[in-house]
Amino acid sequence: MTGLSDSFQRPINYLRISVTDRCNLRCIYCMPSEGIYLLSHQDILTYEEIYTIVKAATELGINKLRITGGEPLVRSGVSKLIEMLAQIDATDDISLTTNGSLLRRYAAELKSAGLQRVNVSLDTLKQDKFEFITRTNNNLGDVLDGIEVAKSVGLNPVKLNMVVMSGVNDDELLDFATKTISEGWHVRFIEFMPVTSTITSPFLSVSDMRKRLEQLGELEPCLPSVGNGPAKYFRFPQAKGTIGFITPVSEHFCFHCNRLRLTADGKLRPCLLSEDEIDLKQPLRSGISLVGLKQLIEEAVLRKPLRHRLAEGYIPKDRPFCQVGG
Ligand code: SAM
Repeated sequence: MTGLSDSFQRPINYLRISVTDRCNLRCIYCMPSEGIYLLSHQDILTYEEIYTIVKAATELGINKLRITGGEPLVRSGVSKLIEMLAQIDATDDISLTTNGSLLRRYAAELKSAGLQRVNVSLDTLKQDKFEFITRTNNNLGDVLDGIEVAKSVGLNPVKLNMVVMSGVNDDELLDFATKTISEGWHVRFIEFMPVTSTITSPFLSVSDMRKRLEQLGELEPCLPSVGNGPAKYFRFPQAKGTIGFITPVSEHFCFHCNRLRLTADGKLRPCLLSEDEIDLKQPLRSGISLVGLKQLIEEAVLRKPLRHRLAEGYIPKDRPFCQVGG
C-alpha cells in the first residue's frame, strides 16, 4: 500500500520523469509546427537532482518510474541515470518511453543499467508516412530494428504505442493488429488528444477502432487482466501478442490516475492536462532539506485535480506534450 494518496483518496505511486525537452522527431500530434523554445542546459535538472527528487518521492511511496521526454535517448548518459535510480531500493519498476530511433544503439546498455521494459512510439509501418508524421526524413527501419534489439536484450515487454489519427494512419489499424498474431507484437492504440497538433481530421474513438478490428476476429479480454495502467488489453484467439486500448478522450481514466510528472526543468505536474505545476528546481538549488522536498511532493499530490476537462474544451496551453512527456 502506497504512503501517498491525493485528496480524492487515489493512491499515487508512479512518477514519469521527462529528462529532456529535445527530440529528434517532430511528430505532428506532439510538437507544434513552429517547433518549441528549447530549455537551456542550466534549466534542465541534472541527473543528481533527479536522483534526489526520486529518492524523496520513493520515501513517500513512489515505486514505479518511467523515463520519458522529449526523446530521452537524445540526452547523453541516460543509462547512467537509470543505473542511479535502479539502486534506490524502493524502485521496483523502471521503464522508458522512446521513439525508438536510437534504441538499437542503447538497448543493451539500458538493460544492463537496470531498465526493465520499454514502450516505443510507432505510428505507421510505411516510410513515407513515417516522414510525414515525424516531419523528418529519419528511417522507419531504425525504429523497427531498435524494437527487435530491445526484445533480444531482454527488455520485456516491448509495447508499441500508436496514436491513431483519422485520415493519417487509421488505415493501418488492421496491419498493426495483424502483427499481434503474426509477430506476437504488443500494440496499444491511443486516442489522439487534441492538445498540440495541427491535425484537423475527425476524432476516431476506441469504440470505432474496435469495430474496424472485428474484421480480424473477435477480441477476447486478457484474463487475468494485464498491466496496471490505463490500457485495457485484449487479444485475438490465435495471437501471442496483445492489443491495448487507451481512451483519454472518449472514456477518461482519471479516477484511477496514480501519476505525477516531473518536467525536464524541474516542475512537478500533478496532471498532464492541467497547467498547475510546483517548482522543485529552485528550492533544490537553494538547498532545500529532504523534509522540505517531501512536503513539496505531497503538496503536488494534494493538488491533483479530480479529472481533466478535455470534454469541456479545456486544453492546457503552457506546454506541448513533448515538454511534459505525454
Ligand atoms: N519521444 C518519446 C516517444 O516518442 O515515445 C517520449 C515522449 S512522447 C511525448 C510520449 C508519448 O506521448 C508518445 O508515446 C505518444 O503516444 C504520446 N502523445 C504525444 N502527443 C499525443 C497526443 N496528441 N495524443 C495522444 N498521445 C500523445
